[in-house]
Amino acid sequence: MNININNLNTYEKQLFNKANEVIARLNDHQFQGYIVGGSVRNILLGLPINDIDITTDALPEDMLKIFEHTIPVGIEHGTIMIINEFPFEVTTFRTELGYSDHRRPDKVAFVKDLVEDLKRRDFTVNAMALKGSTVIDYFDGIDDIQNKLIKAVGNPYERFQEDALRMLRALRFMSQLDFEIERSTLHAIQSNIETIQHVSIERIIVELKKLCQGTNFEKAISLFFELGMNLYIPFFKEIEKSAFCKSNDFLIWIAKLCINQPQLMNHLNALKISNKEKKTIKSMIEINGLMHSNTDKRLILFQYGIDLVMQYMQHFMANFEQNIESIQNLYEQLPIKNNKALAVNGHDIIETLNMKSGPWLKTVIHQLTQKVVTGELKNDKNELLKWVKEHVKI
Ligand code: ATP
Ligand code: MG
Repeated sequence: MNININNLNTYEKQLFNKANEVIARLNDHQFQGYIVGGSVRNILLGLPINDIDITTDALPEDMLKIFEHTIPVGIEHGTIMIINEFPFEVTTFRTELGYSDHRRPDKVAFVKDLVEDLKRRDFTVNAMALKGSTVIDYFDGIDDIQNKLIKAVGNPYERFQEDALRMLRALRFMSQLDFEIERSTLHAIQSNIETIQHVSIERIIVELKKLCQGTNFEKAISLFFELGMNLYIPFFKEIEKSAFCKSNDFLIWIAKLCINQPQLMNHLNALKISNKEKKTIKSMIEINGLMHSNTDKRLILFQYGIDLVMQYMQHFMANFEQNIESIQNLYEQLPIKNNKALAVNGHDIIETLNMKSGPWLKTVIHQLTQKVVTGELKNDKNELLKWVKEHVKI
């Protein structure tokens, strides 16, 4: 079977030509070179290609000699980044030996045969190579693309024994490609499910984020819970069945789970995500609480800003589209958009009342801010200080 380059967009054609230049250069030095993996799969499926990986029988030291612009990104695994206008990851044909920890091979060995390299790859749809425009397909990946199946290369049970992350990758590709998982592959996942506990939470989250963004996240997340894969992953193992839910955004998914089961908040640290991500999750949960307690929307907009409120509405409100404009207007019309814009400061208040500063001051400023945001008081120095004189009593 041949691929049709005319189906690629301008950027992809350019990328493809530049990759083939790298391969031609390898050929000039009597080495083989093939485009492999995700880009071959996506070209066949008519999906966008973002990067192109190349596999070769040249050793890393050969590549360093042949090409001027190189970055040794993973020399011990045989990977060199070769820059030819675009960066290409070029990896020496390799086989992987022994996986005593269910995570990574004990050893990699460079080999001379393309087929050996393709054999170590996870799924048939990811194990095809291109020679020019001809697809090299030892494991019937083209059939599986036509049948929309994720199928392990070789013995699925052994493949998941070797690397437990592949089970989650199967769900990720199921979501991204809108494919089913082939029967024996699915059975092998069921039999190995608890070995996912050997994979680091960081690697799991990389896959879960991609899974959420995929076309068929609903089916893949359902299967994640149905298989009980969650039971062997920090944070996710705490989730009760009644809290199960889905989202096409990882952080929103976590927020929704925490809303359904508040005790999960105590386990957020186990996800080892960044403080910024944790803050987004917490803001979503807080905004949700405020929205449901009928808090004035202007106060919510003032406290969280337009971006977080929009993000909340997009994911939590069914009629989001109809509300975009009114919420934007409401934000535009806020009398003040941040604390600094208040017409009085602590100093003015202390002076007016002739009192010593103390914790009370923060409370008064907070009250003033709320009244200004909701339009109860004008953001005018005299008016605000008048209110202070009349209402603050100690
Ligand atoms: P994308 O980059 O679009 O997410 P991809 O197919 O390129 O998808 P990568 O994770 O970048 O996925 O991996 C590149 C290729 O390396 C895969 O297509 C597959 O052939 C192989 N591969 C990656 N991870 C594994 C693994 N854990 N086990 C076996 N093969 C793998
Ligand atoms: Mg890739």
